Amino acid sequence: MIRQKIQINSDRLTKAIDESAGIGELSEGGIRRLALTDEDKKMRNTFIQWLKDSKLEVRVDDFGNIYGRREGLLPDAPAVLIGSHLDTQPEGGRFDGIVGVLAGLEVIRTLNDYNIQTEKPIEIVNFTNEEGARFEPPLLGAGGATGHFDKEFVYSRKDKDGKTFLEELKRIGFHGEKSSRFQNSHCYIELHIEQGPVLEHRAIDIGVVTGIQGIDWLEVKITGQSDHAGPTPMNMRKDALYVAAKLIQIIRDTIVSENSEATATVGRMEVKPNSINSIPGEVVFSVDIRHSDDRVKEHLTQLIIEKLSVTAAIEQLMIEIKKIWESSASDFSAELIDIISETSNELGYSSQKMVSGAGHDSKYMNEITPTAMIFIQSEGGKSHCKEEFTSRNSIDMGANVLLHTICKLACASN
Ligand SMILES: [Zn+2]
Repeated sequence: MIRQKIQINSDRLTKAIDESAGIGELSEGGIRRLALTDEDKKMRNTFIQWLKDSKLEVRVDDFGNIYGRREGLLPDAPAVLIGSHLDTQPEGGRFDGIVGVLAGLEVIRTLNDYNIQTEKPIEIVNFTNEEGARFEPPLLGAGGATGHFDKEFVYSRKDKDGKTFLEELKRIGFHGEKSSRFQNSHCYIELHIEQGPVLEHRAIDIGVVTGIQGIDWLEVKITGQSDHAGPTPMNMRKDALYVAAKLIQIIRDTIVSENSEATATVGRMEVKPNSINSIPGEVVFSVDIRHSDDRVKEHLTQLIIEKLSVTAAIEQLMIEIKKIWESSASDFSAELIDIISETSNELGYSSQKMVSGAGHDSKYMNEITPTAMIFIQSEGGKSHCKEEFTSRNSIDMGANVLLHTICKLACASN
């Protein structure tokens, strides 16, 4: 049941997003607020003040994740968590992650406005270093707090200047206690911009995210023979770049013909000697393969490895293929997916189920507690850039779905 009259305060949420956009603002537009920098510190302190102004109890854990807790009526009941991240890419937008955290705050402010007491406690979380733009890999705060990463691993990550995560966490004054991590959680809900073009293209208001795609990364090395571009006849060449071009076409054709939901991307390439008048003797390129079902992903990866190996053999060039990284697919909670779909319908918003092609804090939260995500439109599918844009209307719809989803989850005592 929806309490029809209750809606988030659109002006207040817009103001919070605007204020956030002023912290680390770039002169040409967009935000630079890398994890554990002075800009991040300023945003964190502002956010904590907002949490305190909303009468939330604030905690900071040993990874610098910030929590704001609103008590429920039932003592010791598990908490309903809402979260995302306030850090950005080097030239990031004003919505990625930020909308999720600030809409969570707006949910609390709205509950306070209407004097609504929930049975279960509600906690808002801002996760540290989601982007991975300063400290690799991404999702260090969520991965640390959920036990996916060891503390030593997270603490020892270095930025490009050699500063460690721990040094910088201490420097900005956000090295909190392990005991501050979430302990007793009922579920986790994250609102996020889609970062892809599908919702806008289909004119759908809300994406009900059923999971996150699994990813395989391959590194392919082709060894030919570097010779002079002039004296070497075409039929006597071992041109590694020519063969690489063939292989890239095979990768695309294989994925397109095998599975309409899979993606494969060759995004990085090194050519040696990379000279205008030399035949390329060695090429190394990356392949990123994604699908929501790990078995399908594995099948596609194997198929690509086989086809590339056969083609390189026919061309009589050496090929080495290594899997350099792998991330398994996540399936979100069926029950939460249903609640978000139902809530969107009740509010009169169109919705569709979809899989996230990008990683999110939800990925690791899903390992420890029932999790789901709400997506809203990204204009032109753009993100991680200053052109990133989501309309106020889309944000309001997403925040209202979040509000009523949280109400349903936190008001029930079971
Ligand atoms: Zn994000």
